[in-house]
Amino acid sequence: MTLVDSHTHLYDMKKGYELPADILPVVAGYSHSSNRKAVELRAQKGYPIILGIAPQTAIKKGIEMLDEWVDFIRQNKPNGIGEVGLDYKWAQTKEDVEHERAVFERMVSLAREMDLPLVIHSRNNPNPDGGEVPKDAVDDILPRVKGLRVLMHFYSGSEEQAGKIVADGGYISVTHMRSKERRKVINIVPLDRLVVESDCPYVGKSPESIREAVAYIAEVKGLDVGKVGQATAENAARFFNFRL
Ligand SMILES: [Zn+2]
Repeated sequence: MTLVDSHTHLYDMKKGYELPADILPVVAGYSHSSNRKAVELRAQKGYPIILGIAPQTAIKKGIEMLDEWVDFIRQNKPNGIGEVGLDYKWAQTKEDVEHERAVFERMVSLAREMDLPLVIHSRNNPNPDGGEVPKDAVDDILPRVKGLRVLMHFYSGSEEQAGKIVADGGYISVTHMRSKERRKVINIVPLDRLVVESDCPYVGKSPESIREAVAYIAEVKGLDVGKVGQATAENAARFFNFRL
């Protein structure tokens, strides 16, 4: 049985890393240079890819090159636009927030234009008084993506927000990282809307950490590990439109 790692940055793994034969990765870009690496990997290995400009890149690199970055994504026909979104943990100033929003809105319109699903990165502002940066990223994202198919990557929103996302047809992606809130989210999201990811090498060490994510879902939902592995792989194939 093949497992699908729905979100990896495989091109950033140490040289010589060998992917186990039973794991199929969806390779995600987050910047123009990582998008190029994802396209290269697809050419070599045939993996599905998603391309996008992430909020961290919007802060670091600004928006002057955005037209060129968008053209590259358009020409290379990915399986989805991602990872993209809003990150209010990284944003420190009003300008950071403006850049993140400008890039995200371009990514959303690109997804509409290309009729592709969106893979969303979202992180809330941990600062209790907020400062210049809004508090809740998911609340800012949802009205902007109405009518699009979305997958919330490394989901860290609330149970209530997860309910809304699923009601609108969205998918929730789970890593091996455990928390009380994540347990509640896994509990309320139907199995046919869950996928697993490593986000390696930044969250999981390698794509193999999805085995733990599958086990986590199986444990919370009281289901067989094999059944969860198969369902999450099929869900990813449906969402990203590839064959297992
Ligand atoms: Zn990522």
